This record gives sequence, C-alpha cells and structure tokens, in this order.
Amino acid sequence: MIEIQNVSKWYGGFQVLRDCTTQVARGDVVVVCGPSGSGKSTLIKTVNGLEPYQKGRVRVDGVEVGARTTDLARLRARIGMVFQNFELFPHLSVRENLTLAQIKVLGRGKDEAIKRGLAYLDRVGLLAHQDKYPAQLSGGQQQRVAIARALSMDPVAMLFDEPTSALDPEMIGEVLEVMVGLAQDGMTMMVVTHEMGFARKVADRIVFMDEGRIVEDSFKEDFFAAPRSARAREFLARII
Ligand code: ADP
Ligand code: MG
Repeated sequence: MIEIQNVSKWYGGFQVLRDCTTQVARGDVVVVCGPSGSGKSTLIKTVNGLEPYQKGRVRVDGVEVGARTTDLARLRARIGMVFQNFELFPHLSVRENLTLAQIKVLGRGKDEAIKRGLAYLDRVGLLAHQDKYPAQLSGGQQQRVAIARALSMDPVAMLFDEPTSALDPEMIGEVLEVMVGLAQDGMTMMVVTHEMGFARKVADRIVFMDEGRIVEDSFKEDFFAAPRSARAREFLARII
C-alpha cells in the first residue's frame, strides 16, 4: 500500500533522509522509531506529500506522490494523518470538525457526513461530546476526535506521528487502545512512536532510523529479540 524507494531529501546542504527504502503492505502496521532528529517525521510526511523529496520514489496504492501529475489534495484525502498536537479546528465543534473535510473535500452531503462522523466518534467512545469545542476536551479526547475525523474520510492508510507524546501519561492508554483496535481491524498503518508496548502488541515490522537512514527494518520479533545495530540496541535500552 505504501512504497518508499531510495528516498533522499536535503534541506539546503543538510541531508535529512538518506536513501530510505521500506514498504507497508495492505493491512500491515509498521512502527518507526529512532532518536530525535533522525528524520522520522520527515519520512512519514513524504508519504502524503507534506514533505517533498529530491530523490527516489514514494507510492501510495500505486499513485506516485512526487509525480507532477499527481493531485496531492486528492491523494491526501485518502491518507489519514494524526499528529502530535491534535490539530483540531478550535473554532468548530467536534461534530463540525468531523464533517468539514467530508463535505468540502469529498463532496458528501451534510446528513451523510454527520452519520459517518458520528459513527466513528462513537467508535472512539466520544459520542456524548459531539457538541463540545476542542478546548472543552482533554488532550486524550482531542486526539481520539482527530483519529475519528481521519477515519471519517475512509482512508486507505493511516499515518501517525508521535500521537501520544504530547499527552499526559494517564491519557496515553486511551489513545493507544483506539489505535490497537484499528490495527486489529486491518487498517494499514505507519506509526512513529516510542510506545514499545504498542509496537509489541500490533506492529508487523519495526523501522529504526538514525541520522536520516533506515538502519534497521525488521520483523517485530527479531527487532525485540536482538536489534542488529548497536544504535538500535542503545536506543531500546534507554526507552524500555
Ligand atoms: P524526528 O521526527 O526523527 O525527530 P525530523 O524529521 O523532524 O526528525 O527532523 C530531522 C532533521 O531535519 C532534524 O535534524 C531537523 O532539525 C531537521 N529539519 C527538520 N525540518 C527542517 C526544516 N524545515 N529545515 C531545516 N532542517 C529541518
Ligand atoms: Mg518527529
């Protein structure tokens, strides 16, 4: 579903991605981890065209992200992205947050958009909060709304960039639980996270990045049993 092939990217003279190659098969969950500044966010953002790249190829469901002919807005509508900082529209109610893009981008009718949005809101356990504004919700609740909003667009894949790292510890579990449910339902997911409990539970593969390189791309079992690189071993020792 997602193919990243020999991708390199520079910010001026600084090379942030170095010849990165990996893929996420339909229904698979790939966890991306590695030290801060190693290029994880940049890599995951190349997948929905938020970060252009100078070399290589990224394809999602057969569509080449970097091709000049690719309609990025249309591609993005098919890929759900959840960031660290929720990014709900603060001036819109939860229900309006859930329906806006369905109506504006997908052209769905209002009733249909509400029906779908609320079904996903129910799924993340927040149906009773549909009339609230983001500021009236906890961080964990906001993040669950952000996930429901992404799902309302019927994405072919979901990208997560450290979705729990801005949350108070007691709220991390409720967000991870929603993500575990998604993974178990067969959603194709690429997840930047240091939550190794989540990785152990649902990841198919672990990608470990260091200094812009993918230094390890292993089946979960192999990664946790014995990471091949010294950098990954040090990293694991520090965070577990
Ligand atoms: P990670 O998500 O693993 O912490 P990032 O992908 O955010 O890493 O960043 C990788 C490197 O690229 C870092 O050294 C960061 O400082 C640098 N970087 C990120 N965005 C920019 C930018 N817009 N301009 C220049 N350097 C950047
Ligand atoms: Mg990052």
